[in-house]
Amino acid sequence: TKLKVGLLFGGCSGEHEVSISSARAIAQALKSGENTNKYEVLPFYIQKNGIWQGVEIAQQVLAAGSPYLPTDEQQGKHNLWQFPSQASEIDVWFPILHGPNGEDGTVQGLLKLMQVPFVGTPALGSAVGMDKLAMKTAFAQAGLPQVKYIAVNRSQIYSNPCVFPKLCDEIEATLGYPCFVKPANLGSSVGIAKVRSRAQLETALDNAASYDRRLIVEAGVVAREVECAVLGNDQAKASVVGEITYTSDFYDYQTKYTAGQADLIIPASLPDAITTQIQEMAIKAFAAVDGAGLARVDFFYVEQTGEVLINEINTLPGFTTTSMYPQLWAATGIPFSELVDQLIQLALERKVNS
Ligand code: ATP
Ligand code: MG
Ligand code: MG
Ligand code: MG
Repeated sequence: TKLKVGLLFGGCSGEHEVSISSARAIAQALKSGENTNKYEVLPFYIQKNGIWQGVEIAQQVLAAGSPYLPTDEQQGKHNLWQFPSQASEIDVWFPILHGPNGEDGTVQGLLKLMQVPFVGTPALGSAVGMDKLAMKTAFAQAGLPQVKYIAVNRSQIYSNPCVFPKLCDEIEATLGYPCFVKPANLGSSVGIAKVRSRAQLETALDNAASYDRRLIVEAGVVAREVECAVLGNDQAKASVVGEITYTSDFYDYQTKYTAGQADLIIPASLPDAITTQIQEMAIKAFAAVDGAGLARVDFFYVEQTGEVLINEINTLPGFTTTSMYPQLWAATGIPFSELVDQLIQLALERKVNS
């Protein structure tokens, strides 16, 4: 009998559309080649308002490739916890939700409660990986080099008596310009700004605070952007290293999701020692957040000094056919459909509660 895979996608996140694309690619891979005999895919869709939809609507969304919009009759309802009855049949979950409410441990906690195995990192590591402040603390503890940064809480921006000017003074004195202002818990560069002046800093902090209570401001580095994919549980492996190039100011949302704005170079042209160093750092970072299954780890390579700095880990990276994560594994010798198969096997290996 085939294993029933619950492909969970969509989600209350700015990366909802990306999740639909990722799920389309994974569903396709589970229905092709040797996977056909092993797996039966049952898609489940989380609307932007958090409501779960079962197989029928989920299949429509996959076919259309665009969101199912909340209906009028759903207005004001909080039936987030009414699962489609088909959920009880699932043998293993494959959540492919990106960003808040999906990549951050919330859904992982729920799947643990269901006592069904699931692909990817459990709640703790997902939450640590998503929150850039917690992540940086874990990385620092593991001895991983990173850019200088300052943690900011929303209350420092809107407090009375006003501590905001002092905060900006501290950022200017410690980090200088350009610096990057980010909401701590987001992805796809949403809410991120590169700032070059006091006025831009103030606007960026105010804007980032509309996304999250927790913010981070980082010193800007001039570096090549390289990424490494990790696959496995306690004995995880690292892929070849890929590079992202673009002509825009930084790798912002528009550059990420407008065709032709960025190029992925796989493998990146790097000295062997740097490649090895990046791969070792990727595995260290994965362990530092107690990752499981998969992650994409992003780095800055400062060519002038030969320095490699870790930027971040993404525990549920983009998974479309053209995304960096599956492409890195394809170049390492694991084609897309085999990658999906291995991820499910890794979930079963880990079982529940471990
Ligand atoms: P993802 O979609 O990979 O989850 P994210 O929203 O978590 O992205 P980051 O990876 O932290 O955001 O930053 C987005 C981009 O902003 C980087 O790829 C890089 O182009 C630029 N960037 C971020 N921080 C810095 C920095 N400290 N110095 C230079 N560039 C930076
Ligand atoms: Mg990220
Ligand atoms: Mg991300
Ligand atoms: Mg990133």
